[in-house]
Amino acid sequence: MKIGVFGGTFDPVHIGHLTVADEVRERLDLAEVLFVPAGQPYLKTDIPVAKAEQRLQMVRLAIADKSYFGLSAMEIERDGPSYTVDTIAELKKRFDDRDELYFILGWDSLTELSKWHKPRWLISMCRLVAVPRVGYAVSNLNFLEAKISGLLERLIILDKPELDISASVIRDRVARDLSIKHLVPEAIEKYIIEQGLYSAGNRCIKSP
Ligand code: ATP
Repeated sequence: MKIGVFGGTFDPVHIGHLTVADEVRERLDLAEVLFVPAGQPYLKTDIPVAKAEQRLQMVRLAIADKSYFGLSAMEIERDGPSYTVDTIAELKKRFDDRDELYFILGWDSLTELSKWHKPRWLISMCRLVAVPRVGYAVSNLNFLEAKISGLLERLIILDKPELDISASVIRDRVARDLSIKHLVPEAIEKYIIEQGLYSAGNRCIKSP
């Protein structure tokens, strides 16, 4: 079986994430895409605004009607920084030896790959699937290959979908009382309002 793994902060999960997961699943004929919200994202300068349980719940709500999407709390349950390499190593033990893992990431994350923890070990265990991110190009592939030898043969680059949606813009719009309809599923919009997430008064409350 081919299994997609989609890591991220998901603060909140949005239509960009869901469209990417669907597109990659269809294009690569994946049996499942597993969403893995980060516990402590080590490359982001800001810690997540929403609590881990809230980020998990938003992903849970967003994927509820799709049997081929799954959710794992493994990074949230694990202590310390959320290294993708640890997640993939753990998943390799859970799945069958014949299963192939495909880690999905945006071009913005791909450009940072050499800063990741043990990237060479990571690509020995899974393939990477990079999807476009508005404002980013994949022009420095040779530079990345020079830093992480063997990367190019483990990397699949897709040219679609291209959606200019980001969690930071969503958080900012909520703080400014602007609509986030069409940027997140309806259930997520409702949850954000109910929980008072990202509103101007709550922006200083940051918790892991
Ligand atoms: P923020 O704006 O807070 O940085 P984000 O929208 O990038 O958040 P993350 O949860 O950090 O969301 O992203 C998880 C993964 O999804 C990353 O690999 C990121 O590149 C990718 N991603 C997020 N949004 C998109 C999008 N609109 N198109 C393609 N990839 C995306």
